[in-house]
Amino acid sequence: MTYRGRFAPSPTGALHFGSLVAAVGSYLQARQRQGQWLVRIEDLDPPRTVPGSADLILHTLAALGFEWDGPVLYQSQRSEAYQQALQQLIDLNLAYPCSCTRSELQALAREQAGSDQDMEELGYPGLCRHGPLRSQGPHAWRLRVPAAPVSFIDALQGEQSTDLNTSTGDFVIKRRDGWFAYQLAVVVDDAAQGVTEVVRGADLLLNTPRQIALQRALGLHTPGYLHLPLATDAAGQKLGKSTFAPPVDTQNPVQTLWQVLRFLRQSPPAALQTGSVKTLWQWAHEHWNPDVLRNLRQLESSA
Ligand code: GLU
Repeated sequence: MTYRGRFAPSPTGALHFGSLVAAVGSYLQARQRQGQWLVRIEDLDPPRTVPGSADLILHTLAALGFEWDGPVLYQSQRSEAYQQALQQLIDLNLAYPCSCTRSELQALAREQAGSDQDMEELGYPGLCRHGPLRSQGPHAWRLRVPAAPVSFIDALQGEQSTDLNTSTGDFVIKRRDGWFAYQLAVVVDDAAQGVTEVVRGADLLLNTPRQIALQRALGLHTPGYLHLPLATDAAGQKLGKSTFAPPVDTQNPVQTLWQVLRFLRQSPPAALQTGSVKTLWQWAHEHWNPDVLRNLRQLESSA
């Protein structure tokens, strides 16, 4: 089977260091296996999509010398496929409508936990599992999570096991506002694109059991998973849009890629710093070794 990897940025702003780490890791992993590398723009959530940022991300990737295979897939054009998957789950009685609002669930969580804990942390208590509490008005769709824990082996983070009943509970696959949830879209698209291994940041590790549960419910193949350590600043904060991480520098592509390779604990020879992007990529393709990152969840980007 041909190796197929992918990079799936959300167009919510310019590409920053943290996302670039996922792009480089997934790219090198695919190229070293003589595989394909696909780019998918996850513009699934119009309220969060920043106009122009999908193009900006693609330009940044091109300026840094990435070459992707085939056309870019846009999630905004995939609603029919997501709807079909949802229908399949409804027909199997694995998805159900839920009328609970966020504020209702938060109030309930506060009552039960006696604290300000968010429902996301407590998990959905299954109020609508046997029929929506309110039949009128908008509703979300939730997946009935499996009774048994979901286990898998991450190529870097090792063995993982999560009981979805006690973590997320039945989670949302189509939102109350009508948009499909990331969990469903990513699973449908990874399968449609024939992705054999998902390489991405460790911030997404907790999503993986939900995605595997969905793959099983839909009868889809489960790809391999490799979660790269997260880029954090010196204070341990994830480097991302929420921490105002600056956009990556495309004026000095060699320096930018050099920093990412060093962050990923690869050891490119110093002389390559004054060479071309092409030579640096060539070195990286030949020497890529993610094993040095085993069991690391976080790395400081300045290290
Ligand atoms: N679109 C997600 C993000 O930018 C990544 C999804 C994935 O790699 O599965 O955080």
